[in-house]
Amino acid sequence: MSNRAFNFCAGPAALPEAVLKRAQAEMLDWHGKGLSVMEMSHRSDDYVGIAEAAERNLRELLSIPAHYKVLFLQGGASQQFAEIPLNLLPENATADYIDTGIWSRKAIDEARRYGPVNVAASAKPSNYMDLPAQAQWQLTPGAAYIHYASNETIGGLQFGWVPQADAPLVVDMSSDILSRPLDVTQFGMIYAGAQKNIGPSGLVVVIIREDLLGKARAVCPTMLNYTIAAEHGSMYNTPATYSWYLAGLVFEWLKEQGGVGAMEQRNRAKKDRLYAFIDNSDFYSNPIAPAARSWMNVPFRLADEALNKAFLAGADARGLLNLKGHRTVGGMRASIYNALGQDAIEALVAYMAEFEKERG
Ligand SMILES: *Cc1c(COP(=O)(O)O)cnc(C)c1O
Repeated sequence: MSNRAFNFCAGPAALPEAVLKRAQAEMLDWHGKGLSVMEMSHRSDDYVGIAEAAERNLRELLSIPAHYKVLFLQGGASQQFAEIPLNLLPENATADYIDTGIWSRKAIDEARRYGPVNVAASAKPSNYMDLPAQAQWQLTPGAAYIHYASNETIGGLQFGWVPQADAPLVVDMSSDILSRPLDVTQFGMIYAGAQKNIGPSGLVVVIIREDLLGKARAVCPTMLNYTIAAEHGSMYNTPATYSWYLAGLVFEWLKEQGGVGAMEQRNRAKKDRLYAFIDNSDFYSNPIAPAARSWMNVPFRLADEALNKAFLAGADARGLLNLKGHRTVGGMRASIYNALGQDAIEALVAYMAEFEKERG
């Protein structure tokens, strides 16, 4: 009997139970080899096989063309905020950034250390409740790249469209990669910290078009250089071997579930159910413009904020964990990544209805 709770944490987030069970079964003795994946040399045939299978399955899931490299790096998505300008922003060029919330602003602040950054558009006029329409973007002619975050994990704002631009798009997909199909060829580079929709923390996946390699600044540290990472199969030094292995198990699980097309159907049903419930209630509210609402992170408020503590305590008691909103936003947030099924949404909605009836 499993006593696993429904974990709505924004990250590190819930992993599929089947993946954890498989990791458990393989923990002490991987495939009869008498050792754990954690104890393998990253240069061994067995580990290289694990790493290559993970990449192959990710390529298959997202139909990643051969002229894109897939890198399994460390330092999280936040380190990419520096790696991107160090690798892609030449000394005398400008990079365009779109500001849609806390994560894209962190990327902007970090990039400014390396060169001119033009904030081409911002969600600020809407108080971060809606995306700036592309017609209003003030893009720089000849920009080295355009950076944006496809899903603002904290604010709950998500792009339902891909910007059209001449410069390569560099997108932070940390919290929505693999949640629905995407056309990789629309992007110069996609990156995602693993701990939302891929696997455990300690790993960041970078998908980069080959022609963007080879442009790193001379001062770019070896360990942060995409070209060197690509040349060494992401093993210039010891990679996050166990996180990479677990990511591979998640990719296999996703394939068994029917791939990202199947995940899109499920995720659509999940978010539709939750937003409809919130919208039909006078007690709960979500402020984001409907077309810009995140499928993955659903912030919501109680009409009476004095009841927040009681709401969270009651949720905890029922095994509905980590519903507290980010400290900068307050209120509640339900992160409903791939690993959470419709049963988690039904359990949450049932609790919310009951709480509203009793206390609302
Ligand atoms: C979580 C998150 C990050 C930061 O990830 P780390 O791996 O902790 O550095 C960056 N961007 C987005 C959109 C995120 O959700």
